[in-house]
Amino acid sequence: MPKPLPPIPPPPPDLRLTSPSEVRALLASWDFHPSRVLGQNFLIDRNILTILLDAAELAPADTVIEPGPGLGVLTQELLQAGVTLTAVEKDPRLAAFLRLRFPGHPRFTLLEGDVLRAPLPTLFASPAVKLVSNLPYAVAARLLLEILSLPALPARIVVTVQREVADRMAAAPGTPDYGLLSIRLQRHYAVRTLKTISPTCFWPAPEVRSAISLLVRRPAPLGGPAPEADLADLLRHVFSQRRKTLARSLRPFSPDPAAALAALSLPPETRPETVPPDLWPPLLHALQATRK
Ligand code: SAM
Repeated sequence: MPKPLPPIPPPPPDLRLTSPSEVRALLASWDFHPSRVLGQNFLIDRNILTILLDAAELAPADTVIEPGPGLGVLTQELLQAGVTLTAVEKDPRLAAFLRLRFPGHPRFTLLEGDVLRAPLPTLFASPAVKLVSNLPYAVAARLLLEILSLPALPARIVVTVQREVADRMAAAPGTPDYGLLSIRLQRHYAVRTLKTISPTCFWPAPEVRSAISLLVRRPAPLGGPAPEADLADLLRHVFSQRRKTLARSLRPFSPDPAAALAALSLPPETRPETVPPDLWPPLLHALQATRK
């Protein structure tokens, strides 16, 4: 039988979550061992916090969603900025701690559970909502892609993610990192990597480097509207065979892929990594037209 976990005591009033020794001591006092599966690497660096908050351009009228609040180092700063905040934490002991840290706070809602199972259409119901988070790395890319299928997309996204994911998010056409994630995000957002982050900015230090990504929603999606699910199917397929020419890899999508490519002035030997984000929606429509 696993030994029962001690209950979480109320936090000390002067707790400093940017102090590695205080974070370590706090977690040790609960017999809490950070989970790698849940990506529990807690931010302990004040400069990184400041960059995240500045990039979020917060105003008291803002509504912010924070997946993975952990011990609440960012949560506390967001609340101090006056925003209305909903955080979603999967770890029950961290959720219990957060309830003790911010008891009855009028602008704070905590949902306990997996953010991928949270009511995302309700959380992001308004297009003014911002997403600000040191994201759990295992779900970062998937969460961002799920958000793209919502009826209203958040206005601004400021997140720390694994460096490789940040590189894929911001990749330009013709580079090895360019693919489905770059295209789907860049269609809707201007994507920038603001800073790479050393593992020592977290406790425990992750094995990978991290980066801060800023995504600012575009006034309209590049290439015009397109059904996200169809676009995702198309991109998943062609980038799973990225060495093939599009005339070959697009065969399952059209009886005449070369005609669809020609409609966009693309030669048949075009490879997917050279096609910029704004050409994928018209290509999807051209492929559909060849099936009629
Ligand atoms: N925001 C805190 C910080 O900056 O110190 C913690 C960030 S830590 C990288 C990721 C947090 O996400 C952890 O608290 C972890 O328990 C939580 N988490 C992991 N997977 C999650 C999921 N699927 N849904 C919600 N929270 C999750």
